[in-house]
Amino acid sequence: MPFSPLRAELEELEAAGLARRRRVLESPQGARVVVEGRQCLAFCSNDYLGLANHPELIAAVQAGVARFGVGAGASHLITGHHAEHHGLEQALAEFVGMPRALLFSTGYMANLGVVSALTGRGAEVFGDRLNHASLNDAAIMSRASLVRYPHLDLEALENRLAKSRAKRRLVITDAVFSMDGDMAPLPELAALCERHGAWLLVDDAHGFGVLGEDGRGSLSHFRLRSPRIIYMGTLGKAAGVFGAFVAGAGDLVEYLCQRARTYVYTTATPPFLAHALRRSLDLVRSEAWRRARLRELIARLKSDLEVLPWKLLPSETPIQPLLIGESREAVRASDALRGRGILVPAIRPPTVPRGAARLRISLSADHTREDVEALVSALRAIA
Ligand SMILES: *Cc1c(COP(=O)(O)O)cnc(C)c1O
Repeated sequence: MPFSPLRAELEELEAAGLARRRRVLESPQGARVVVEGRQCLAFCSNDYLGLANHPELIAAVQAGVARFGVGAGASHLITGHHAEHHGLEQALAEFVGMPRALLFSTGYMANLGVVSALTGRGAEVFGDRLNHASLNDAAIMSRASLVRYPHLDLEALENRLAKSRAKRRLVITDAVFSMDGDMAPLPELAALCERHGAWLLVDDAHGFGVLGEDGRGSLSHFRLRSPRIIYMGTLGKAAGVFGAFVAGAGDLVEYLCQRARTYVYTTATPPFLAHALRRSLDLVRSEAWRRARLRELIARLKSDLEVLPWKLLPSETPIQPLLIGESREAVRASDALRGRGILVPAIRPPTVPRGAARLRISLSADHTREDVEALVSALRAIA
């Protein structure tokens, strides 16, 4: 027998309909993609503004590579911190209205870095049950104790905060929930944190670039400011490139720069990415028509899908989940759409709760009204 102790578990995943398969993309990201030799209409990326293949960003990357080379060569605290990173941090802080910002390689690493730097044994972390996996992992890695409260349940959270004896308390939440598209009540959460002496980490992976004035994100959407807020935005979704940042009070950001292990012990991202991201930030701000187009497409999809037996979850964001229920049925619906040349992923447990499998439709400013009509008629045909 060959040595393969994981075979049985893989077969179990397969049998339960939970095995996942990567589809190989052969074109740039966009509303229309080529997947395994076939042209498809795609509703599955987080490239909400359609910037991932923007000609000006392609040009910025090319110019950046020519000027700054390919690699950063070292971590930020050694010799990897380039003027392009520095300028981008200042631009990001100014954009989201915070005193200071710090770049991280990815949102996943930013969450791990923040939570483990600020907490640890003896601290208590409070997280929404539907938070992104990276926030849960961050809390587990930090060795703090993790309290998961029911989705959006402020009363449950307040009860747990009131009972807490921990010296350091941190509430962590998605601003826009990645598989549901709904929003956390950030002003109420900030007020609770104020009352109970806790920090609030806001993960705005799906709000940055999309929500608020000029796309400044969820805090701007709520016109919210608080010295207790630690803001995390990602740069590989609406911003179209790659990376992430954390913004907040000056001391907080300096502390993270000294202590966040996923910042200190890793190579800086290539400076040409920071160069392109500065251009991306200009586009996010100036091409407001992209957010207007998104709002129009969201409204159209919601009204056109009202007649379907499957219901959209309540969401005002480009993430529009169509609740199906059973994993197998969600996969069948996704396969049927793919048969018609339309890509919409089926999201299954453990990413979402059992019995809540869904089609996660995500819209982009790259889509046209006709694209949304094509999706709607395909869904009507297969429902
Ligand atoms: C995508 C995502 C992340 C991770 O960001 P990456 O830059 O892709 O690592 C973190 N939190 C949420 C809510 C996300 O959706």
